[in-house]
Amino acid sequence: MVKQTIQIYARVKPLARRQQAGIYSVGEDEKSASSLEIIVPRDLADGFVNNKRESYKFKFQKIFDQEAKQDAVFESIAKPVAECALAGYNGTIFAYGQTGSGKTFTITGGAERYSDRGIIPRTLSYIFQQLEKDRSKVYTTHVSYLEIYNECGYDLLDPRHEASRLEDLPKVTIMEDPDQNIHLKNLSLQQASNEEEALNLLFLGDTNRMIAETPMNQASTRSHCIFTIHISSKEPGSATIRRSKLHLVDLAGSERVAKTGVGGQLLTEAKYINLSLHYLEQVIIALAEKHRSHIPYRNSMMTSVLRDSLGGNCMTTMIATLSLDKRNIDESISTCRFAQRVALIKNEAVLNEEIDPRLMIIQLKKVIQELKDELAMVTGEQRTEDLTQEELLQLDEIIKTFLEDPDPESTLDVGADMRKIKHCFNYIKQLINRTKIPERSLLSPDITGDEDTNTPEKKEELKKLRDLLHQRDNEISILYETGFIWI
Ligand code: ADP
Ligand code: MG
Repeated sequence: MVKQTIQIYARVKPLARRQQAGIYSVGEDEKSASSLEIIVPRDLADGFVNNKRESYKFKFQKIFDQEAKQDAVFESIAKPVAECALAGYNGTIFAYGQTGSGKTFTITGGAERYSDRGIIPRTLSYIFQQLEKDRSKVYTTHVSYLEIYNECGYDLLDPRHEASRLEDLPKVTIMEDPDQNIHLKNLSLQQASNEEEALNLLFLGDTNRMIAETPMNQASTRSHCIFTIHISSKEPGSATIRRSKLHLVDLAGSERVAKTGVGGQLLTEAKYINLSLHYLEQVIIALAEKHRSHIPYRNSMMTSVLRDSLGGNCMTTMIATLSLDKRNIDESISTCRFAQRVALIKNEAVLNEEIDPRLMIIQLKKVIQELKDELAMVTGEQRTEDLTQEELLQLDEIIKTFLEDPDPESTLDVGADMRKIKHCFNYIKQLINRTKIPERSLLSPDITGDEDTNTPEKKEELKKLRDLLHQRDNEISILYETGFIWI
């Protein structure tokens, strides 16, 4: 288990007019942290910031100033999270800041130059490079792309739909199972076997995201977009699967309703975004407070989806994007304050390992066969093939010796081989049957003799013999009466 607070970084967007320098300064306080000091210009000090302070200092893990390039941002922020995802831990990187401060540029990137690629394409490229290198495991990767607008989820990767409006995209809803795990119904998981396939999916999602947006419906500033890379890995022959999710989140603009200050439809929308980010803030405040048992994750779809990323099983990183223009000082301070609260949240990331029952059965069957073989070895080989001629002769010899042995205590030992034991029984049975044959042959003439007397010749012979016997009897009686025989 890895216990870690949410890591916070700041990125300052390059400003068009450099003369505004002096509004902020970046300092290296300690080795592992940087500080951002926002200096409120005198003419604004009594304005909407409305207190006497002239500067505000915020600590971050690292601050990426205006000239910081995309590769440096990726190396420091996204690469460690991608590495954890490859190892089986969940990860989340979310960008928070007002509209125009560089969230989309940081998460997805700019389209103009290849070097402007943001965290998503660089992470995909890095992950597939690593997968290529690691031949010790079998990896499967899927991606999903969810847009949440006005508390409704939309699947940006559905291949069946060519969206011209956001409402044309499949609606994604939240389902909670009895263990309170969140499942997203209707969100497609698209398999991506290589970097190109994954980038094509990102492109499809971004196209849907842009097409669905009209000037009247500036969805991108009012919606949250969550690009998720799902990685599963397994060592060959093992039934244990590691699954991890890496969420790359481009949140809605964090500007406040008061400043948006428009009526009608836009105000309703602005309220929604703020409602959603307001719920995010509530969750973060609740998490930062010690001994709070109830965390209001369920209040909004976004906090439900990112539940694990906030105070759960995830290694989470926040990038506070700042457009440190004089006009945006209040929003920048509010973004930094939000980040400071986020930094207090402790997460506990665990290795997401599970046993695949199908693979487990195959493995157990193998173990059973091995044990059977082992048992046969120990108990004397329970083999099923026929005994050889030589074995049979040897066996007959042993049985004969046993039977001829006059010692009543002698035993017949052929080992625990059922084939040999059966042969012994057969041998003895045959022997008994053979000794019975003469008895039967003694009996049979009588039986057959009865039948034979029924033939006319035999009857005749029998009659002759009886007559003869009768005649002899008479002769004996005469001899006896005449005194020739003395008994
Ligand atoms: P957000 O998504 O926060 O509303 P964007 O990422 O769309 O803001 O940025 C607004 C504009 O500023 C875009 O044209 C973008 O290309 C540009 N931009 C933002 N950050 C940078 C940066 N670090 N370097 C160069 N251009 C940037
Ligand atoms: Mg954007």
